Amino acid sequence: MPYKTSEARRAYRKKWRAKNKEKIAETRRKVKLDTLSHYAGALDVRCAYCEEADLTVLQLDHINGGGRQQRKEMGLASAGYGFYLKLKKLGYPEGFQVLCANCNIRKHFGAL
Ligand SMILES: [Zn+2]
Repeated sequence: MPYKTSEARRAYRKKWRAKNKEKIAETRRKVKLDTLSHYAGALDVRCAYCEEADLTVLQLDHINGGGRQQRKEMGLASAGYGFYLKLKKLGYPEGFQVLCANCNIRKHFGAL
């Protein structure tokens, strides 16, 4: 639907997002699950170190580090939904593993 102004389009999108919060959350959850499933090699996604299975706290870890630089090169400001979509578009490149937030932080500080 064409809008006369970008403000009108922005207002429509804001209203749509407010009305469809659950749909948006489910889409994001599915994209995350698809991505993490690929890297976990199973539909039953778990942390590679501690077996944590709560999708809420599972993250994608750059095995050799350099995540911030890679996202920058991909033109992404942060990790998460946009990053998962980009990885899918790129055919799921190698170099990632699934970790829970605790293990990811432990790895970052050299405690894993
Ligand atoms: Zn863990």
